Amino acid sequence: MKSFYVLTLFPEMIEQTLSYSITGRAINDGLINVEAVNIRDFTKDKHRHVDDYPYGGGAGMVMQPQPIYDAYKSIGERAEGSRVLYMSPQGRTFDQSMAEELSKEDSIVILCGHYEGVDERVIEEIVTDEVSIGDFVLTGGELAAVTIIDAVSRLVPGVLNKEESHENESFSDGLLEYPQYTRPPEFMGRQVPDILLSGHHANIDKWRREQSIIRTYDKRPDLLEKAELTDKEKKFVQQLKNKER
Ligand code: SAM
Repeated sequence: MKSFYVLTLFPEMIEQTLSYSITGRAINDGLINVEAVNIRDFTKDKHRHVDDYPYGGGAGMVMQPQPIYDAYKSIGERAEGSRVLYMSPQGRTFDQSMAEELSKEDSIVILCGHYEGVDERVIEEIVTDEVSIGDFVLTGGELAAVTIIDAVSRLVPGVLNKEESHENESFSDGLLEYPQYTRPPEFMGRQVPDILLSGHHANIDKWRREQSIIRTYDKRPDLLEKAELTDKEKKFVQQLKNKER
């Protein structure tokens, strides 16, 4: 079982968001364990404040180190040796390869900031990785945390069933996934490609692989640099490039 311990001021945002669909099923089946620890429960302030004005002035409030540190400590032995991810726009950008890397960990602690962020000293004390979900600024780390938990969970064996397999998905081999179709065979005058109705699995696989390469070339040519391609496929990419000229 993979455990995620999330240090947050808004535990419901974590628990509720993940309680649906595949992650909800994985939690119910005991394949993943998500515990949201409310940082506010660890404040020593009589008004239950967890933030204060920034030293040196400036806009906004900063989360104080003590409640975060005590919330982290409350996880105890269960988090010993675990990576501690601080959700931050300043971190390494999350991607599928990081999701794969994290799916190998037994447990992960995630710290969600809010307001202007958290006091630097607690980051220095407990955080092993700063992780961003993209070059934009969210109001808090909770949506970033559930994004990461979702992407990592679906790589945990048993979380996806056979029909939901992630094997041929976008990024699994460095390429985007081929186009998908379901019933009806015709929609608004647009037909499902004949080959998908042919029942010829080898040809379908070949077509899908080709479509993946074409899609990646059209939408994310940067990915092709690192994709795992055979010599024949590399030639095919070259043909696509030549066609453009
Ligand atoms: N003042 C901080 C800065 O400029 O780097 C931004 C603070 S942001 C308003 C509040 C919190 O949202 C952060 O502490 C972080 O936990 C979370 N956050 C914002 N953008 C994020 C992103 N792109 N990825 C991950 N977490 C993010």
